[in-house]
Amino acid sequence: MEKKKRIALVAHDNRKQDLIEWVEYNAVTLLEHKIICTGTTGKLIEQQLKPALDSEKFSSFEVTKLKSGPLGGDQQLGAMIVDGEIDLMIFFWDPMQPQPHDVDVKALLRITVLYNIPTACNRSTADFIISSHLFNEEYRQKVKDYSTYINREVKM
Ligand code: PGA
Repeated sequence: MEKKKRIALVAHDNRKQDLIEWVEYNAVTLLEHKIICTGTTGKLIEQQLKPALDSEKFSSFEVTKLKSGPLGGDQQLGAMIVDGEIDLMIFFWDPMQPQPHDVDVKALLRITVLYNIPTACNRSTADFIISSHLFNEEYRQKVKDYSTYINREVKM
């Protein structure tokens, strides 16, 4: 991954406030990177960053908004990870409430593990990620070699 990171930000409704606070606290750092969000999270983050976005320094900065999570946004993010378009993910999912798109959430989290994407599901981990020196450097993460699986013999 390059110095400028492509960061996925997602939060379930009960955790959106937590994510917004984290974004506000880290706004200056985040504005140097590229932000990709599920729909509603993105809308709220944009509102939060608006004063900074209005300044000339960050005029080229934009938040990419996908579909809302339950309407396929999590799957869109998963596809972006598979295509190598996301470097890290901050996903504050709600451990106290079942979601209509639980299977999508699980699939997204599985894909982040499969592709070795740094992923934070709570504030402390997000703090550790953003304060790592690797956050502002190039980094080549190792992805497990799946060639044995890809080239396996399938009995027909
Ligand atoms: P939202 O989706 O940002 O559109 O609310 C989040 C999610 O539930 O994945």
